[in-house]
Amino acid sequence: MTNQTVDIVKDSLQALVDNQAFLPELNGERRTKAFTSLLSILSTPNHVNKSYLRIALENGQVVRIPAFRVQHNNILGPYKGGIRFHESVNEEEVVNLASLMTLKNALHQVPFGGGKGGVIINPREYSEKDLYVICKKYVQYFSDILGPDKDIPAPDVGTGEREMDWMMGEYKSIRPGESYRGSFTGKSVENGGSLGRREATGKGVYYTFRYLMHDFLEKHETWVSERDNKFAKTVLALKSKPLTVAVQGFGNVGSVAALAAYQCNYLNNKVVAVSDRNVTLHNSEGLDIPSLVKFCSSNHGDLPTTDMELKHIGVKAEILNREDVLSLNMDVLFLAALENQVHDNNKKGIKARIIVEGANAPVTTEADDYLSEQGVVIIPDILANAGGVIVSYLEWLQGRETQFYQEDEVFEKLYEKMSDTFEAVLPQFFNDPFPLRQNCYIHAVMKLSTILYRQGKLY
Ligand code: GLU
Repeated sequence: MTNQTVDIVKDSLQALVDNQAFLPELNGERRTKAFTSLLSILSTPNHVNKSYLRIALENGQVVRIPAFRVQHNNILGPYKGGIRFHESVNEEEVVNLASLMTLKNALHQVPFGGGKGGVIINPREYSEKDLYVICKKYVQYFSDILGPDKDIPAPDVGTGEREMDWMMGEYKSIRPGESYRGSFTGKSVENGGSLGRREATGKGVYYTFRYLMHDFLEKHETWVSERDNKFAKTVLALKSKPLTVAVQGFGNVGSVAALAAYQCNYLNNKVVAVSDRNVTLHNSEGLDIPSLVKFCSSNHGDLPTTDMELKHIGVKAEILNREDVLSLNMDVLFLAALENQVHDNNKKGIKARIIVEGANAPVTTEADDYLSEQGVVIIPDILANAGGVIVSYLEWLQGRETQFYQEDEVFEKLYEKMSDTFEAVLPQFFNDPFPLRQNCYIHAVMKLSTILYRQGKLY
């Protein structure tokens, strides 16, 4: 875990140790010891597995590629989390992301623990055949620790359905006769994946914002207006106006969130800017998101970068630098690219009043403190980007039952699950001095601590 995550877990445990109503059976010296034990259990992964995959590349060269599978904690169920293919992957990052999965699953009451995998490569530099071999080798090297009831990988940055299909295929060959459908999630629908899984993270990210600005306010508007704090003021000030939205990142998460915003009938919002690794496209009248999504799917996922390309698809937009998306005039900013995008050096340029974290950790702690102080509502990653793992859980269940749900049913279940979590944490956020991120962590830590205690792991 990074110091940042350890600090939030530590603060959450501190808030809980002082609250005698939580686990009242633990008192006096026993209480102090139990909470100290909880900190060491939650801040350390159970296993850090590292291998150097020996890969014979298509060009005849043999290389060693470092790969990880970190198993953070499985008190709530089998380890669960994606496998990331990216050149910046490192052990500390994978450990941190695995611990975030433990907390995310606990917060959303998904019966899984936390894990994460990583391979240090830039997938764009490898042929399809090489990627296939890397996926197969990953499963061969880690096959003993993986499985539907042990540790279930899924896609993450740089991986998708194709990789999960290959990996499940390899798992099945290594373990003939054993159950395999639940060994990987995020597979293609044809190969036992769930309808809606591909869109799940992006949809979930948009649902969090829609829930806050629509359902939550519909239910609790009077109550929120009686709260005397800056977050209540921010939300109420935006409530009755048409909202402008910008989305950083136009991959699997950002493009789906942008499309959901474009198509949403519940809120009066329009998407005025989107960006990817090359450009920002901006139009204060609103962008034609469906045409951009269509363009990207036939352009290796990249947005148009020239006036000619824009003209060709009939989209009106000005072309700006990729980082401009962060500082344009807008009400809501979805961060769906990578970590550490809003930091000390650019935090003052942010004009959005609501930030939704679609990526993991896109806002640094310093920037988070500063923006929260300014009354910016930040919906944290742990709350906003759980759609992927929630639908992974549905995929795992469907694979066990070999009964498959309709797409509408999947999105309904996703929305229901996410709204249950919001109902549990949002009222407290408007009520007390903890930021929303801290509230989410407190909830997750409460769940984990209770189960660790009940299963006798604190003796
Ligand atoms: N990689 C996604 C995440 O970080 C999905 C994990 C999963 O579906 O297991 O939440």
